[in-house]
Amino acid sequence: MEPVIGIDLGTTYSAVATVEHGKPVLIPSRLGHRLTPSIAGFALNNARVAGEAARLLADEAPDRVAPAAKRFLGRRYSPELAAAAKHLVPYPLVQGPQGEVRVKIAGRTVPLTQVSAMLLGELKLDAEAHFGRPVTRCVITVPANFDDGQRSATREAARIAGLEVLRIVNEPTAAAVAYGLVAKFAGRALVFDLGGGTFDVSVLEVAQGVFEVKATGGDQTLGGEDFDTRIAQWLLAQVPDAQRDAVTRDRLSMQRLKHTAERAKRTLSEKAEVFLSVSDLGDHGEGASPSKLVQVDTALTRDFFEQLAMPLAKRCIEVCDQVLEEAKLTPKDIDAVMLVGGMTRVPLLGRMVTEHFGKAPVGGFNPDEVVALGAAVHADELVARAGQSLLIDVATHSLSVGVAGGGTRKLIARNTPVPAVAKDTFLPGRTGQTGARIPVYQGEADLAADCTLLGEVVLTDLKVDRRSDVPIEVTFELTAEGTLSVRAIDGSTGIAEAIRIDARTTLQPAEVERLQTEQLTWAGEQGQKDKAAALQAFPRILDKAERLALLLEKTAQESPSPEADEVVGQLQALIARGRAGLEGEDAAVMAEVTRSLEALLSAAAG
Ligand code: AMP
Repeated sequence: MEPVIGIDLGTTYSAVATVEHGKPVLIPSRLGHRLTPSIAGFALNNARVAGEAARLLADEAPDRVAPAAKRFLGRRYSPELAAAAKHLVPYPLVQGPQGEVRVKIAGRTVPLTQVSAMLLGELKLDAEAHFGRPVTRCVITVPANFDDGQRSATREAARIAGLEVLRIVNEPTAAAVAYGLVAKFAGRALVFDLGGGTFDVSVLEVAQGVFEVKATGGDQTLGGEDFDTRIAQWLLAQVPDAQRDAVTRDRLSMQRLKHTAERAKRTLSEKAEVFLSVSDLGDHGEGASPSKLVQVDTALTRDFFEQLAMPLAKRCIEVCDQVLEEAKLTPKDIDAVMLVGGMTRVPLLGRMVTEHFGKAPVGGFNPDEVVALGAAVHADELVARAGQSLLIDVATHSLSVGVAGGGTRKLIARNTPVPAVAKDTFLPGRTGQTGARIPVYQGEADLAADCTLLGEVVLTDLKVDRRSDVPIEVTFELTAEGTLSVRAIDGSTGIAEAIRIDARTTLQPAEVERLQTEQLTWAGEQGQKDKAAALQAFPRILDKAERLALLLEKTAQESPSPEADEVVGQLQALIARGRAGLEGEDAAVMAEVTRSLEALLSAAAG
């Protein structure tokens, strides 16, 4: 069977996992790292780079890469969004022809779905190197509060990367699946998911493999980067007054401060104090004098960092309380708090959670890996249909129809279990009216102007003699993964109009196809290189295994035991399989033997 993978497409880091021998495992990158930085761009020779290579490029040429693209994925362009982005990311946002957001990097305008596709493509290559065979099917996770547009943009990115999405799953739900299935948890759980750019909270009821989301909420503008910004601002305050403006205006300097801040934050999760040194701060523009560049050397203690971070941490707790309130629960009703997202390694957050909920968060998983593991479990479920778990998620935003006078009428309320179908009947208004526009909104406000317009259904050829003559029945259908379709039927003629709301800021099909061809051509070349590298490395792996087999055989002869004989037998069988794989240049066999050897050796070592 073709392998399936679970992908956690994070704001700052991404991870990919699969299920092997019934257990979810993380797939390491080809560089051997467990997490991949969520950065993609174009190298100086215009070749594509994603992940670790793009992170390295960011130091050298920050204008050629796009980190944290997820913050804007599937959003509608607006001047306000572009202005807000200036404080968050080093690249400018531009408006695309469909009203979508594009970014300017490496002198070109790149759709955000392409940036995400480049990253997904990197994870796909990692998985393919791991399995030694093509991988196309996956489950991808998104923040619970992603709307239709963001979900469909995620799907579009996957399409460009050549991935078939079996299902989009909410990140906290995926985390609960991993905790619930692997740690065998049952009860009421709160998932506290603080990532690089977003904060999500979900309350779930977990019982015998059923995961029922009770409420979900969060703050899309709160994440690890806000903590980095606080440290970066504190560093900036230590730049001499005369240079501070130049540093603030200089992208490279600001990037350095941000990087240093992020590293300091990580160090402070382990240590009580960190020494920081940022050099070459100042104007790097053409004609600027390098002698004017300055350096900041300072120390940051965990205590002081906690003071800087306290308002942000308090905000997290407030959001938890809001979500609990919607679920009509209090902190006492929660049996387990599950921490997700790299940021939850910050000790302050663990402490505040423990204090607020009166119990320590559950352990056992890496908070930055658990989402990918849960996604892999779910992908495996969908393909193998083992029926181990059932996900019942909820609508993360209310969905309504705009009515006369600027109001809205809710058809699907926030936190309604999905899939959901809702119908309502509307009267189109004036006598003699021949058409009707039915605007569809998302949001919690009563006024349409305060909600987000998702799209419109347009009915024509209405024959309205008397106001009540032509009832229009509007049906909303929200799928289990949160995409909405809307249908309207003219009651007098039976003519129906439908729009797929989730298609709103997607690219033109021809462009998607072109981007996909480009991406897959590049990935094909990359895959060939990976295969050649694996072919070259494999004989050395086999030789090493053979030396070890000889050694173990000798030991087994000296002190015989059935266990030792078994290990030697397994090792020899693997070596024989590997030799055959090598001869036939069978990448899948070589990859499988490499994985089995690693597992055997780590078990023997353990
Ligand atoms: P995610 O979106 O889950 O990849 O979250 C990544 C965020 O977690 C980034 O803001 C990282 O700086 C932060 N992070 C990762 N590891 C640590 C750590 N050990 N201590 C503090 N923050 C971390």
